[in-house]
Amino acid sequence: MNESSAGPQDCCAEDITGLLNVSEARRRIMELVAPVGGVEQVHLRAALTRVLARDMVSNIDVPPYTNSAMDGYAVRSADLPTHGQDGLKVAGAAFAGSPFQGTVGPGECVRIMTGAMLPDGADSVVMQEQVEVSGDRILIGSGHRPGQNVRRAGEDMAAGQPVLQRGKRLLPAELGLLASLGIAEVPVSRRLRVAFFSTGDELRSLGETLAPGEIYDSNRYTLYGMLSRLGVELMDMGVVRDDRDAVRQAFETAATTADAVITSGGVSVGEADYVKETLDAMGRVDFWKIAMKPGKPLAVGRVGDALFFGLPGNPVSVMVTFYQFVQPALRAMMGETVTDPVTVQVPCASALTKSPGRTEFQRGQLARDSDGRLTVTTTGLQGSHVLSSMSRANCFIVLPGPSAGVAPGELVDVQPFEGVL
Ligand code: AMP
Ligand code: MG
Repeated sequence: MNESSAGPQDCCAEDITGLLNVSEARRRIMELVAPVGGVEQVHLRAALTRVLARDMVSNIDVPPYTNSAMDGYAVRSADLPTHGQDGLKVAGAAFAGSPFQGTVGPGECVRIMTGAMLPDGADSVVMQEQVEVSGDRILIGSGHRPGQNVRRAGEDMAAGQPVLQRGKRLLPAELGLLASLGIAEVPVSRRLRVAFFSTGDELRSLGETLAPGEIYDSNRYTLYGMLSRLGVELMDMGVVRDDRDAVRQAFETAATTADAVITSGGVSVGEADYVKETLDAMGRVDFWKIAMKPGKPLAVGRVGDALFFGLPGNPVSVMVTFYQFVQPALRAMMGETVTDPVTVQVPCASALTKSPGRTEFQRGQLARDSDGRLTVTTTGLQGSHVLSSMSRANCFIVLPGPSAGVAPGELVDVQPFEGVL
């Protein structure tokens, strides 16, 4: 949670309403988690989205040799004219993968292609567009800089230098980077095992027919999506009825096999009985009321050795609490170095209604307005059951507790959804 986005009440654990504030809840959760440990050596491709388990040091220079950044002519900078024009003799050619054998002497140059090794004697490249060719000679004008258009050996990564720190999530750039070092196998943290289930007598699974008063279980699908993108090993335990034995059985199974257990539903007041009763007997779980909307009730703690999150039942609350609390906790358990979400301040094009009190995570759409300025617009209905608001959104609009709403044009904090996770 970015400090600025949760508002001035962040100085104290509880705000005026007696609820736990968002950044304090996040701090307490992050205190509960530690990396699970365990390292696997995997092929580079299989390392995509995994978390690096050891620091990586470059064993070679990248680029491995000084080469040309342009198609042109490799020259000695002493031969570059300071005024007027000078002619140089073309002594040969250097291609990527096929170096010029020899040394560029005074008054000489070598035709060179992008990525080709800079020949001995030369230290600069003149773009082909900036010379006149006549036979085996070229004419170069003034205004060139010694060392221009040259990529130095090791300027990207030098041999012996640390290139990636452990805790880094390996994304496409890192795969390419490791490949450029010739590294084919990578040490990554073992996969986290996460069990999840939905609770509620009203829930039906896909393929079943809805009777009056029943709804389809959608939370297991958003959770499946969010967890899959994190690269964890999933245990989908289905729907568990609001029944004492069923709930206990589910928790027992989950706790013996998973590093983390996530449930949705059954944590709000009056309904939590079986969940709370079971958890009181099995683990150490706190039932929090967080000063946020959506997502006020949240159960956090341990069941057996597993970290436990009891998320609220409403579909938007599941996603908001997952992104604000569960995702950073799981990432830390995977050994990832977790940073706060990026928050940017932009004008809000819509009027937003809000009562002072809780931090709100409204759903917004970041886009350029007709003047080309970045602005955010509401996605419309903001009820915690309106999952289409998440689908239309590309950011959260974070309104601090004291805010009493937003007039069009006012600046608001937004958290863009990450593209990768
Ligand atoms: P609860 O937290 O169990 O009181 O549920 C709050 C609201 O979320 C109720 O309207 C539930 O029907 C709904 N809900 C609970 N679990 C799910 C689920 N897995 N999928 C969709 N809606 C749910
Ligand atoms: Mg329920």
